[in-house]
Amino acid sequence: MKKLRRMSFFSLATIVLLGQAISFAPLPAAAKPLHVAATIFPVADIVRHVAGGAVQVQQVLPAGASPHTFDLAPGQIRELQKARLIFKIGIVDDWIDGVGESAPASEIVSLQDHVALKPFHADGRHEGGAGTAHEGNVDPHYWLDARNGAIMAQTICSRLSAIDPERAALYAENCRRYQDELRRLDEELKRACAGLKNNRIIVFHDGWNYFAAAYGLKIIAVFQTSPGREPAPRDLQKLYDVARSYKIKAVFSEPQLPTASLEPLIEDLGLRLFILDPLGGADPGDSYAGLLRRNVLNIVRADSL
Ligand SMILES: [Zn+2]
Repeated sequence: MKKLRRMSFFSLATIVLLGQAISFAPLPAAAKPLHVAATIFPVADIVRHVAGGAVQVQQVLPAGASPHTFDLAPGQIRELQKARLIFKIGIVDDWIDGVGESAPASEIVSLQDHVALKPFHADGRHEGGAGTAHEGNVDPHYWLDARNGAIMAQTICSRLSAIDPERAALYAENCRRYQDELRRLDEELKRACAGLKNNRIIVFHDGWNYFAAAYGLKIIAVFQTSPGREPAPRDLQKLYDVARSYKIKAVFSEPQLPTASLEPLIEDLGLRLFILDPLGGADPGDSYAGLLRRNVLNIVRADSL
């Protein structure tokens, strides 16, 4: 009884002391939420997995927009001033460099480090259609291979730990677990693609070289469309010829690219249109892993036609 009473007095004293601590002591630095930014949805999702709930992640490119035709709005630049780190892919989202002097406390981190980058058109395949969205020889779409996602997670973990060492162990643990998840996903996607009858695909944007190499696909034509430019009848004839000679029944468009005007023509050619999405994030429950899985599922569905 005596012991109990002493304990309750002790608890009361603790509560009073805590109350004082809450009222008067300044918040320790670690309690302040860390603010970071990511250019595109897949990067933002990888950052969230590594950071856990400890970090606020601002995604710059809105869902449905294409990084190839994007520019920063003044409101976004103001918001980016709060970000300690801004993670980018590089090349495809170099518009983020436009924050420049407006955000002197923000460090822009390119996730290309340790990724084996590929040149465009290494395989000398067909090209077709009007215009191209890409400049330079380095293909920046490396995030569409889950193994590269794991490399990106490692870079994100290192940079977060460097500016927030108190949470380094948490970041390391989150990163390790997420990398395991991506490794299992990679094996799952490879298994799914190993059973394809026809591994040759036609895409509408030259952004699938890493994806194809990772999952055993062969891109036989890129039928690039750009806003306001319709493909010539000669280009459509070429699309048809390539599809016929490789016994292809489906072509893959992207949600961020305009293909509505092409769809009737593609149907006339007897081809079905499926989606490959390089960016995702349109649905609240979407994830980087879900995006890769959805793309492979569409490849498998198109193959079963
Ligand atoms: Zn691209």
